[in-house]
This record gives sequence, C-alpha cells and structure tokens, in this order.
Amino acid sequence: MKDLTPNGIALRISITVAIAVTLIVFLLEYFISTVNVFLILTVFPLAFLASYIGFRIAVEKFIYKKIKVIYRTIHKLKLKKGEEQKEFSLNQIQEEVEDWDKLNKQEIERLKGLENYRREFVGNVSHELKTPIFNIQGYLLTLLEGGLEDPSINVNYLKKANKSVNRMISLIEDLDEISKLESGAIEMNIEKIDLAELIKEVINSLELKAKKNKGTIIFVDESNKPVWVKADAGGINQVLVNLIVNSLKYGKENGETLIKLFDMHDNILVEVADDGQGIAEEHLSRLFERFYRTDKGRARESGGTGLGLSIVKHIIEAHNQTINVRSTVDVGSTFSFTLKKA
Ligand code: ADP
Repeated sequence: MKDLTPNGIALRISITVAIAVTLIVFLLEYFISTVNVFLILTVFPLAFLASYIGFRIAVEKFIYKKIKVIYRTIHKLKLKKGEEQKEFSLNQIQEEVEDWDKLNKQEIERLKGLENYRREFVGNVSHELKTPIFNIQGYLLTLLEGGLEDPSINVNYLKKANKSVNRMISLIEDLDEISKLESGAIEMNIEKIDLAELIKEVINSLELKAKKNKGTIIFVDESNKPVWVKADAGGINQVLVNLIVNSLKYGKENGETLIKLFDMHDNILVEVADDGQGIAEEHLSRLFERFYRTDKGRARESGGTGLGLSIVKHIIEAHNQTINVRSTVDVGSTFSFTLKKA
C-alpha cells in the first residue's frame, strides 16, 4: 500500500529528484569532460537530502492548508460556549484522527454485536413460535374439516390446541421477563427476607406439579430457624420455581429434588439438587444462554421455553451474586447460587 503521509510522499519525490539530478550531473560530465565518480556519489545524497527537507516542508504546508478549514470547523463544533479555538499542529490532528478512528471501530464492533444479538433473538423467537402456531392451525383445520362432529377427537384436539396456546403464553411471558431484565427495567427490591420460609412457600406451591411429575421436593432444613438474607423476594421466588420445575421436568420417575442451605461466612449458599437425567459436560458452559437446550425435542415436549435458566442467571446477577451448575449424566444435577446474609 502506498504511504501517503508527508514523510512517504517527500521520500518518494526526493528519491526521484536525487536520481534525476545525479543522472544530469553524470551526463554533463560525460559529454563535457571525464566522469568523476566521487562527485557523482556526493551529488546523490546531497540532492536527496536537500529535496527531502524542501518537499517535506512543502507537503506538510500543503496538507495543513487543505485540512485546516475542515479541522477548524469540526473543532469549532466541539467547543463549549466561551472556550477559545486553539491552534493545532499536524501531529495533533493525526493523533486526534487516529483516536477518532479507534473510537469508531469500537463503536462499529459494538453495533455489530447488537445487530447479531437482535438477528439471533428474532430468529429464535420466530422459531419458538412456529411450532405451537402450526400445531394449533393443524388441530383447528382437522376440527373444521369434520373433526368437530367426531367425539373421539374433538375434545382431545381442543385440549391439544389449548396446550399449544399455553406454551405460547409461557413463551411470551418469559420473553417479556427477559427483555425487562436485560434492559434493566425491572429493579430488584432488595430487603431482609426469611429464605427458609420462602423455600417452604415455593415447595407448597409446586406440590401439585411434583405429584403430576411423580417427583418429591424435600427441603433439608436442619436448623428449622429463619435464614435471613438480603434479596428480592419475587425474584428469588422465580429462581427457585424455575430450578425446582426443571428438576421435576428433567428428573426421573419417583425422583427427589433436595434443597439445602449452607452457611458461607457472609453468604448463604442455596443448592437445588436432583437425581435425574443429568447434563453432559459439553452443555454446561452454555446452559444459561437464551433458548439453549441440551435435548431440543424433549425440552419442547415438556413445555419448556428455553429461557428459564437465563432468567434465573439474570436475577441472581442482579443481586450481584453467581450461579453454578455441576452435573453427571444419569446421576443428576445440582444448581447452586449464593445470597448475601442480612
Ligand atoms: P427449558 O424451558 O427448556 O427447561 P431452561 O433454560 O430452564 O429451559 O433450561 C435449559 C436446558 O437445560 C433445558 O432444556 C435442559 O436441557 C437443561 N436442564 C435444565 N435444568 C436441568 C436439570 N435439572 N436436569 C437436566 N437438564 C436440565
């Protein structure tokens, strides 16, 4: 690539000039008298040096004059009221332009990231909505084409259509939740709460679901005393529900979900452990990503939106805490997160 800096331009012109001057001196000597090699060797560097200095100054002046007006205008726009227009050198201009270029590149990268995120998000959402919508369409068409009169399928198909509608509602609710969490629209209402009490309430609310899934939820509460933490009650309620519901969904028949609390100096560590299907090592690092599923077919079948764990992670991070998972296939999974003691 051609070097278009004042230095590069002056260098190229000076080399040409020095070659031309040396050639002229050589020809003059050749035709007038004998060729003096020493003179020729001296003429080249001298001609080069003189023309380099001359051209470098001239090129700089030329460029400076050309960009001065533009630069002044840009600078004037940046000046605050009452601030003086300062003088500037070519080096300063170069530095500022380079800084500006760096900033723009970073901004472009950031916007590209956002654009990728948006594209991926829209793609995922439409993909997730497609299945229930096409299912509903299929059930309705069958009913319209005579199925409505057939008692062996009408109620069954209406129930199935209703299930798909419920799946869409869950998806919309989770999407709404996650977009609010990501945009910071939901503020955590951090207050002193009794975590042990909250866990018992969540377990009670999930009793029916556990029965349906043939699972048991046990709170291993050894102290039987209140456990005070600083947390948003609604947020942690949601975290516990999502983790426990997953343990039931991906658990085995007659499986157990154990909830344990550990005292860790300033924090309380909460563990939600199951003895279900477990998660293969390669999925663990991506588990908390939006719409990530280890077994797409089975997870959708069980009505999952693929957003549950990502919502959990957002809520825990909004508490400035972390969530982890360890798991062994066919043995079970343990999700653990911390909360500050109150
Ligand atoms: P989903 O709505 O699909 O359950 P989640 O974000 O809650 O979405 O979970 C993401 C994926 O992680 C699930 O599809 C499932 O593959 C896996 N997963 C979550 N919890 C467990 C668990 N306790 N045992 C095994 N796999 C799990």
